[in-house]
Amino acid sequence: MADDNIRVLLVDDEPVSRRVVQFLLEKEGYVTETASNGEEALAKILTGRFHILLTDWQMPKMDGLALCRHVREANLPGYVYTLILTANSSEQAVVAALEAGADDFLHKPPNKHELLARVMSGARIVRLEQSLREANEKIQKLSLTDPLCGTFNRKYLNEQLVLEMERAKRYSRPLSLIVADLDHFKRVNDEFGHLIGDDVLRHFGSLCMTSMRVNDWVARYGGEEFVIVLPETPLGEASCYAERLRLRVASVAAATSSGAVSITASFGVAEFSAVSGDKTDSGENLLRAADAALYESKRAGRNQVTCAK
Ligand SMILES: [Mg+2]
Repeated sequence: MADDNIRVLLVDDEPVSRRVVQFLLEKEGYVTETASNGEEALAKILTGRFHILLTDWQMPKMDGLALCRHVREANLPGYVYTLILTANSSEQAVVAALEAGADDFLHKPPNKHELLARVMSGARIVRLEQSLREANEKIQKLSLTDPLCGTFNRKYLNEQLVLEMERAKRYSRPLSLIVADLDHFKRVNDEFGHLIGDDVLRHFGSLCMTSMRVNDWVARYGGEEFVIVLPETPLGEASCYAERLRLRVASVAAATSSGAVSITASFGVAEFSAVSGDKTDSGENLLRAADAALYESKRAGRNQVTCAK
């Protein structure tokens, strides 16, 4: 877990009751903040800083049940475990609280031991939910990453390029794309074997990634072909970028277990034209335009950059 401290928001309109419970929680090591009504509490909860909400039911402005409902509707990225405190412990009241989205129910004034036990049980749920979420994020990330090179993969490219193009269109911003392909990669595999070929691919992927600026990203398109997406970048600038990368690839040999292997790469550059809505008006067409330019680089002798017409 990134943060070991469980943060509790304690909400009660009675200052004395607030102070007593806050004292108990802080003594147990919970980072505790307070609010005196539902509205104030909701504003704090929406910052996403709290793991546990311990709220009184009867309060002016917004009561505990309404607060619970708002918290559930907000659908925050991290689960907020919610406990309701009330003097009314009828069956009906319990049902109403649980229906509003509360996880548990505490009689007011709470017994010290029961309060701490129930908050601890909430903390357990929160930690469990956090580790599940982290595992999911990891799986999600892995499903979009190329396992060999650590760049994004083709799935990510297909999904993300559409979004980048929509953004470029909406704000009338330039967007360029570079297709980079290792020259004579088959020879590397034939001469040194596939394991060395993999080292060379990793090296090439890493050169692409370490050449990027903040918003750029790179995906392995397949085989020895990589795609670099450059948001906010017109064709001329993208072409200069590709030229710098070409020089770097040609001058930094790949360190492999069979020694240094020198490589070169060919590049094709295309710009997404947001205004004309012409032939580059889809991810596929933009890739095709860059690919055609790459083909020109190959045809003209490799180790060079060509821009799409
Ligand atoms: Mg009250």
